[in-house]
Amino acid sequence: FNVPKAVNEPVKSYAPGSTERETVANAYKQMWNSQVEVPIYIGNEEIKTGDTKTMSAPHDHQHVVGIYHQANRELVEKAIASALEARAKWASLSWEHRASIFLKAAELLAGPYRAKINAATMIAQSKTIHQAEIDAACELIDFLRYNVEFMTQIYKDQPKSDSSMWNRVEYRPLEGFVYAITPFNFTAISGNLPSSAALMGNVVVWKPAATQVYSANVIMQVFKEAGLPNGVINMITGDSGMISDVILSNPHLAGVHFTGSTGVFNDIWKTIGQNIASYKTYPRIVGETGGKDFIIAHPSANAKQVATGISRGAFEFQGQKCSAASRVYLPKSLWADVKSFLEADLQSMKMGSPEDMSNFITAVISEASFDKLARYIDQAKNDSDAEVVIGGNYDKSKGYFIEPTVILTTNPKYATMETELFGPVVTIYVYEDAQWQEALKLVDETSEYALTGAVFSKCRYAIEEATVALQNAAGNFYINDKPTGAVVGMQPFGGARGSGTNDKAGSAQNLLRWASVRTIKETF
Ligand code: GLU
Repeated sequence: FNVPKAVNEPVKSYAPGSTERETVANAYKQMWNSQVEVPIYIGNEEIKTGDTKTMSAPHDHQHVVGIYHQANRELVEKAIASALEARAKWASLSWEHRASIFLKAAELLAGPYRAKINAATMIAQSKTIHQAEIDAACELIDFLRYNVEFMTQIYKDQPKSDSSMWNRVEYRPLEGFVYAITPFNFTAISGNLPSSAALMGNVVVWKPAATQVYSANVIMQVFKEAGLPNGVINMITGDSGMISDVILSNPHLAGVHFTGSTGVFNDIWKTIGQNIASYKTYPRIVGETGGKDFIIAHPSANAKQVATGISRGAFEFQGQKCSAASRVYLPKSLWADVKSFLEADLQSMKMGSPEDMSNFITAVISEASFDKLARYIDQAKNDSDAEVVIGGNYDKSKGYFIEPTVILTTNPKYATMETELFGPVVTIYVYEDAQWQEALKLVDETSEYALTGAVFSKCRYAIEEATVALQNAAGNFYINDKPTGAVVGMQPFGGARGSGTNDKAGSAQNLLRWASVRTIKETF
């Protein structure tokens, strides 16, 4: 198991005047001024159906950057057939060959494709250059590199044998195909869900989110250039309901690798349940879903550190990370200081197009998302148990811009303390300093989701209390840090309760879900 040691891709700073800044700015301009046509990738074919949808930029929604073609039922069937046809050969290829393809893809992303994948993510998902770099470049590269290392850890794990008997286990791919459904908010996740299953020898039908097709297309080009054989990953776009309907009723469905909303994941699970007798094998169901992630501060916490945790944790990428802080519990003694630090911090955050690399906040992904956020902000302006204390303005005339908004509530079960909003809105509840224990209990009881959470404190006993009291309330728990930005190889990522199956992204445990183990006993 001699593989190149996985190393995290260094994050470039894109400082003013740097070559990397100029390179990505040029890529952005060039892509902004041209039109892309995204086909459906099935086997060796790039299919243009003529049934198209436009792709535009959330920060300038009238600006179209291309079109993508939509599949009909026959093409979805064809994608499945193409995956199944590629299966035997792909599954019998040695793991070194599979690994080489994805390691090469990582190098392509680190070098010649870096500016393109970043610019694509900036344009159609409205990420700032920094948010694009840590996602589309570094995290995706890290997933590809680390998964190879995790795969070898799995393969190394063998049972005991003795001189008369040799026991061994084979980590075979699942018998059938894997359906990868990926979200708009992380280009890295979009690349990881199909490739991690494929690395383990599986064949995949991949459906990216409509709002992420633009960068998904670049990922597909990278996989192809890296030498991925035809049919191993087939990328289809089109009506989600129809696509899932066809795929989930196919007898050869062997797994679902999902990141997206809890509601959609529940529907998938139900449909699989209904169809269960028709499958050849029980499909593996792996999902990372919603979050309503918390920050709780103890009276001993440093107010500035807490404020920074909130402003970075809640507002980076406009709060559209599943891990984003969206409800905060502060002791009364800290509130005034945290508020003034937050005001200063948010005032310094410029909002606008990602093309201007000094902007910290850009637009939210869609009009539907914008309207939902605006509705909750308006409601908070009117409700007697809530008030908007910072921000609260919005404007969709050019792009879907929502100002970073802080709501203060006297009701720990206020709507925005419980509903996942997926935008730059955070709600704060202030508790009495003496009620720390009660506050911990409250956080746990109201954690319907359990993805990420953070505690801020200088007191070790309080940290210990929070760690114990909130042990089931967050799959990723942060002490004195914001709850976002998990790094592959350092903080395996995922949550339980309503947040998913907790099969950590970027871990051997996740890859194991894509293996079906055969135990062999040989007697001498
Ligand atoms: N892994 C990301 C983070 O730690 C979040 C992933 C997601 O939003 O699904 O911030």
